[in-house]
Amino acid sequence: MIRYALQCTAGHGFESWFRDSAAFEEQAERGLLACPQCGSAKVEKQVMAPAVAVKEERTKAQPVAMLGEKEAQARAMLRAFHQHLRDNAQDVGIGFAEEARKIHYGETEERPIYGQASEEDARALNEEGIEVMAVPLLPDDRN
Ligand SMILES: [Zn+2]
Repeated sequence: MIRYALQCTAGHGFESWFRDSAAFEEQAERGLLACPQCGSAKVEKQVMAPAVAVKEERTKAQPVAMLGEKEAQARAMLRAFHQHLRDNAQDVGIGFAEEARKIHYGETEERPIYGQASEEDARALNEEGIEVMAVPLLPDDRN
């Protein structure tokens, strides 16, 4: 399949998919293409390279970064943030979601905590109105 950016003589732009370039030529010749805005059959390709359809791959991806020298400062800030968490918040490990709910619903002492939660857990917490944030890992923390 090929996607063409098309344009009618009135200047309305739109996009349409064709089996191949010959299919476009044939439909255009037979007047089968019509502008969705004004219905004009005088439609031409816009001057643009056609995009080829590729199967969309949905893979689970994590945010990643390659750090250059300029990013060293951001990395240091992130390291300081990690240190701040360790100094000021309690590590509740994999019990994070449970503990966060207890704090939110007043079942235990209110205090800053950190730990591990799956993406689904974090989303569920946020939906319950319990604000949690993902803490970016430092590359050397991944072991
Ligand atoms: Zn038009």
